[in-house]
Amino acid sequence: MARDNIALACSECKERNYHTSKNKRLHPERVEYKKYCPRCDKHTPHKETK
Ligand SMILES: [Zn+2]
Repeated sequence: MARDNIALACSECKERNYHTSKNKRLHPERVEYKKYCPRCDKHTPHKETK
């Protein structure tokens, strides 16, 4: 299985708060997760980044 490591960056402050991995075969597009951002001190959409 080709799993690639990705970083999840806050869409508001661009801080990379989370690292995870995903299968690019199943999710070729950029994923977005709602996560807590300690810098914004709230939940924000976090987008996949390298
Ligand atoms: Zn943030």
